[in-house]
Amino acid sequence: MQKQKKGVLFVFSGPSGVGKGTLNAKLFAEFGDQMAFSVSATTRAPREGEVDGKHYFFIEKQDFENRIANNDFLEYAQFAGNFYGTPKSYVMSLLEQGKNVLLEIEVQGAMQVMERMPECVSIFVLPPSFEELEKRLRGRGTETEEKILARLETARGELAYAERYRYQIVNGGDLEAAYQELRSVYLKETQQV
Ligand code: 5GP
Repeated sequence: MQKQKKGVLFVFSGPSGVGKGTLNAKLFAEFGDQMAFSVSATTRAPREGEVDGKHYFFIEKQDFENRIANNDFLEYAQFAGNFYGTPKSYVMSLLEQGKNVLLEIEVQGAMQVMERMPECVSIFVLPPSFEELEKRLRGRGTETEEKILARLETARGELAYAERYRYQIVNGGDLEAAYQELRSVYLKETQQV
C-alpha cells in the first residue's frame, strides 16, 4: 500500500492590517479541501463573536503553563501581555493525514517553527515599502513625533524579520495581484505545478 503523502506546513506572519487574513481566507476558499487551519491556545479573553475551539482555545494562564511544561506546544510566544501557542499533536496529526496546515502566528513563534521544522514554508506579508509606511503614518498627522518614531522602530524590527521568511509577498493595494503570488507559492510548494 502506498504511504499517505505528508502535508506541507505553512507559516504566515505580517503586521496587522496588511491583509494577511483576507489572503488566507481566499486561499482557503480555493483549496479548503486540501488544507486545515491550526487552532491556537491563548490566555487572552475572547472577543465578541469568537467561539472557543474555533477561533482559539481560550484557556487560563495556569493551564497554559502546564501545557508548556508538558511540551504540548510546537511553539508559543507572549504578545501584548497574553500567551499564544500552537498545539503540537493536532498539527502533526493533520500533516500525517496529508493536510496542508496553515499557521497564522506572530514573528517570535514563527522563528521557533522555522528552527524546529526547517521544511516549513514561511511567508511574510508586507506593506509596499518602509517609506510608504512612514508616509502613511506621518500622513495621519495625529501623532507626536515620539510616537511616530516608536512605531517606525517597531515596523523596522518587523521588516528585519521579514527577510528570514522564505517568501515575502507585498500587498500594495492590489489584493488580487498579492493573492496570485500567494497562490503560485502554494501550488509550487505543494507540488501541484
Ligand atoms: P489576536 O489576539 O489579535 O488574535 O492575535 C495577536 C497575534 O498573535 C497575531 O499576530 C496572531 O497571528 C498571533 N497568534 C495567534 N495564534 C498564535 C500562536 O499560536 N502562536 C503565536 N506565536 N502567535 C499567534
